[in-house]
Amino acid sequence: MIWAATLAGAAVLTGCSGQDKEADGQVVNLYTARHYDSDQALYDRFTKETGIKINRIEGKADEMVARMKSEGANSPADLFITADAGALWRAQQAGLFQPIQSATLNERIPANLREPGGNWYGFTRRARVVAYDAAKVKPEEIDDYAKLATPRFKGKICVRSSDSVYNLSLVGALIESWGPEKTGEWAKGIVANMARAPEGGDRDQIRAVGAGVCEVAITNSYYYIRLASGDDAKDRQVTEKVKLAFPTLGGKGAHVNISGGGIAKNAPNKDNAVKLLEFFASADSQKHISANNNEFPASPDVAAPPPVDAYANFVANPMNVAAFAARQPEAQSLMSAAGWR
Ligand code: FE
Repeated sequence: MIWAATLAGAAVLTGCSGQDKEADGQVVNLYTARHYDSDQALYDRFTKETGIKINRIEGKADEMVARMKSEGANSPADLFITADAGALWRAQQAGLFQPIQSATLNERIPANLREPGGNWYGFTRRARVVAYDAAKVKPEEIDDYAKLATPRFKGKICVRSSDSVYNLSLVGALIESWGPEKTGEWAKGIVANMARAPEGGDRDQIRAVGAGVCEVAITNSYYYIRLASGDDAKDRQVTEKVKLAFPTLGGKGAHVNISGGGIAKNAPNKDNAVKLLEFFASADSQKHISANNNEFPASPDVAAPPPVDAYANFVANPMNVAAFAARQPEAQSLMSAAGWR
């Protein structure tokens, strides 16, 4: 009996380690806040090239972070990807990433688009910029973020609420560049210039410019490009009247954010996760993602595909994405103090 039990136990153990080994070579658990149908083609190509199957778990960024937190050390998460450096920084603050070193990632991704400690890496870029009514606004009136807060735009600005991570990252970048005092004044100026209380997403702000509710809107670049090149004729019409401008921050170019990812703290399939992240950072993947969701490739060496190529030739502020991402709490309290809802 004892002998049989020991043998059975040994068999189970052997079985377990065999399974683990097999799983190590075949699987990666991807937690993703991205939700594009076009991503499936990318995942299929990765599996075809490497033999590694992708288990995808989807949800909003904050939901994914909460889930990984509650799963703790037992989390099956290998790789977490999401939009906005601010969201990646929150995951890092929650202790959900482990830093990695990858010569491949360092070569494929510019240094300012990755977290300096190796906790997370961007693979595409988006700019947070300005859509404007070309009949009412001259480009030189919006060539600097500072100008948006001047009396010229009293009652003329549409922008979403201050709980948007996009706005927190932008204001974080302003703090990083200008310091908190000037940025606090800027936020007050923006609130004074609002055409209406913040409502809706970035696309709604662009459409509001089209409808004459405001003259300028703060928006992520890909929303504008999506309206300009999408299937909706009314939205395309809006972008004939409303144009996209890339203001400068401290004279050094437009505020740039990323979509990216990091390796989970307790990744059971870490090597596969690194391979998948390196795959997302490849020139082909950057192009694929760019073509499908209208972000820009992260690497300046990767040519932007249509339709984003028409907008890709802007000056990007070289600030490190982790520098502004870490200023979210400051940005939040500064915007609250300004009365930015
Ligand atoms: Fe978005």
